[in-house]
Amino acid sequence: MAKIVCVLYEDPVTGYPRTYARGDIPQIERYPGGQTTPTPKSIDFRPGQLLGSVSGELGLRKFLESQGHTLVVTADKDGANSVFEKELVDANIVISQPFWPAYLTAERIAKARKLQLAITAGIGSDHVDLQAAMERGMTVAEVTYCNSISVSEHVVMMILALVRNYLPSHQWVVDRGWNIADCVARSYDLEGMNVGTVAAGRIGTAVLRRLKPFDVKLHYTDRHRLPEAIEKELDLTFHPTTESLVRVCDVVTINAPLHPETEGLFNDALIAKMKRGAYLVNTARGKICDRDAVVRALKSGQLAGYAGDVWFPQPAPRDHPWRTMPFEAMTPHISGSSLSAQARYAAGVREILECWFEGKPIRDEYLIVQGGKLAGAGAHSYSAGDATRGSEEAARFKTTTRAPDTTHR
Ligand code: NDP
Repeated sequence: MAKIVCVLYEDPVTGYPRTYARGDIPQIERYPGGQTTPTPKSIDFRPGQLLGSVSGELGLRKFLESQGHTLVVTADKDGANSVFEKELVDANIVISQPFWPAYLTAERIAKARKLQLAITAGIGSDHVDLQAAMERGMTVAEVTYCNSISVSEHVVMMILALVRNYLPSHQWVVDRGWNIADCVARSYDLEGMNVGTVAAGRIGTAVLRRLKPFDVKLHYTDRHRLPEAIEKELDLTFHPTTESLVRVCDVVTINAPLHPETEGLFNDALIAKMKRGAYLVNTARGKICDRDAVVRALKSGQLAGYAGDVWFPQPAPRDHPWRTMPFEAMTPHISGSSLSAQARYAAGVREILECWFEGKPIRDEYLIVQGGKLAGAGAHSYSAGDATRGSEEAARFKTTTRAPDTTHR
């Protein structure tokens, strides 16, 4: 029988919800392109419930315990004394979400001698040292596509929020003002601007499609070029390098995975090549941007705004400069964890577990690492190596306000 350790974010400060704003969520059976949404044999939750926090348990307890497995669910994930660090030692499977990542560094993988499977409840397995996972012969899987559209909606929202100066204008209302000039002195139309995505995978392409009706000029760069039909349909300009793209774009959105090729990509040198007053939106991974270079660029006016929901490490320390830098429109890492997305990735985790326990193959599109090498979606989008360095700093968040232990067993 297996021991499964599942690391989820904390419940709301007001307690686990008893009611929800909406009665249902739309039923989606296929993603653009035809891939089916997760197909587990059954689920033990109501779509639209909060599943990603500790009490939601991704809806897995009944299923796992009915088969005799042990499930430990905790939010306490960072530092040597964390519940995760202790429970990991004899765990067979670890489940974690990118929003509140259980960093599986090489040291932790070495300690977890029985660990065979790491599941990302979401997309983006950079919180796992993929190199160490390959060397150990572990399987790493994620729920490809489960929240790609969710993120693309967030990207469009953030682009508009920055360009139109939404958040500072809203603040004037809250402050009981009517300061129109203060609001509009940094407010523009998106129409006619050059907008480019770094990576045109599932999210990047969905962003391009959603922006097309805004009458903008669309650009992209990627390791593989999109089919000609899509380039024509969306009137896209392809750039062979990120540098070529940023030179001409007023708005740049980053939609590539974090791996050794993309870590630190947006540093002082690349940001200096952007148009002065460009906007940068990063919902991919915090580490793709150099933290301090972004702050410097906002202060100097090289960037007119920066928005995103991804930080490094996560949770971001309370003194992380992106919390207080000017012209930002940041959120915590939420874009891929809407209630709609949670229903899909909880079902996807269940599907992966059903396959694992029944000895059936996991869908190829869910695989990142298997059999000692990058596999499936991982072989297409990632490069070998490790992007977890520095993750131990996440423990600093906890030291200022230690959350009560809400581990569920
Ligand atoms: P996809 O795998 O569909 O797309 C990723 C794309 O990035 C692929 O087209 C890939 O190219 C491209 N790419 C990889 N490396 C580079 C590079 N060095 N330069 C340019 N392009 C590159 O994934 P998604 O679109 O679904 O997700 C993308 C990322 O977004 C995830 O990896 C994750 O980090 C992040 N994400 C964030 C979420 C959030 O809540 N904020 C939720 C979900 C994802 P190719 O395959 O052609 O080689």
